[in-house]
Amino acid sequence: MNDHIVGIRTYKYRLYPDEQQQAALDDILDVARWLYNRALDYRRKRWNESRHSVTYNEQAAMWRDWRNEQPEDNPLRLLNMSAGQQVLRRLDSAYREFLQGKRGKPRFKGWRFFNSVSYKPGDGAALRDGKLYVQNVGLLPVKWHRALPEGTLKNVIILRKASGWYVLLQLEVETEVPTTEPSEALPVGIDVGIRHALALSDGTVIDSPKYLKQSLKRVRVLQRRVARRRKGSKRREQAIQQLAKAQEHVANQRRDWWHKVTHWLVATYGLIVLEDLHLAFMLRNGNLARAAHDVALGLFDELLSYKANQAGVQLVKVNPSNTSQICSGCGWLVPKDLSVRVHQCHNPACGFTVDRDVNAALNILGLGWDASVRR
Ligand SMILES: [Zn+2]
Repeated sequence: MNDHIVGIRTYKYRLYPDEQQQAALDDILDVARWLYNRALDYRRKRWNESRHSVTYNEQAAMWRDWRNEQPEDNPLRLLNMSAGQQVLRRLDSAYREFLQGKRGKPRFKGWRFFNSVSYKPGDGAALRDGKLYVQNVGLLPVKWHRALPEGTLKNVIILRKASGWYVLLQLEVETEVPTTEPSEALPVGIDVGIRHALALSDGTVIDSPKYLKQSLKRVRVLQRRVARRRKGSKRREQAIQQLAKAQEHVANQRRDWWHKVTHWLVATYGLIVLEDLHLAFMLRNGNLARAAHDVALGLFDELLSYKANQAGVQLVKVNPSNTSQICSGCGWLVPKDLSVRVHQCHNPACGFTVDRDVNAALNILGLGWDASVRR
């Protein structure tokens, strides 16, 4: 006896536009980006001039007017009306999240950073005879590498990546509860922390287990014992053997634990962003206290890459510089040394306060989010 819930799931397929169609799709993305930037510019100006917060409805009305000017040769008409509204909704929710302290200030987008446009099915885009119809582009061949399940089509998203063009079909489907796959799209940023083993952007912190700390303590005791004993003595030989055993035990425990953690991560999240650890190690260069920790993180990196790949979870690595110093709420630089455990923003308009590692994880997620859309 299972409960059912209705959820949205996303299915991604490769598109094969011809040259002319590719050019048309590029043009549509250009219009969408222009709209985003122009609408953002308007919001900023109104705010600076008169502290007026522009609403989505105001912007949608402006979009309608711009699009209806000189209808015969207006390039804005390449973009479907409601697809343009989706662009404005995207900007609107970016603003809301910014005001709630969940992300930095929305920025103008260069062409590399604007790679998707979303249609309502039947309004500018639709599935037709096994192909995808897009207004002003035509019928695009789709590679159906897996069958699209039964369900109600809610969104059609066209995506440009370095490797080519894709369509994301978002379906409302019934799934059984409990589900082992929560959401294909749930993203997370991970900071390999100072206070915690891992800190996640959703506020979850993961600490090394006590048994591992105890085993490490035993290793350190045995290391000192070896050092104290006379070279060549039988007792030193005994201590060396004890130490080797203890080190092996720690290595096994550590590997088991990281297996569990990485398994949980790929089962829980659909997009995982973390620091490029090679760069992170270089930035910390000289900090011996962290050397042992870094060995363990190398293992984490290896296991996570392997499991993410197997589970089809996207893994994005970003440059870690400054991720701990920048406020993830407003973008201000808030310098703090290693002893400061809580991020407290100095910006009077922000004041975002959170665990320092969670703040870093939020910044890491932000960087990776941009990078993953860009691909
Ligand atoms: Zn702030």
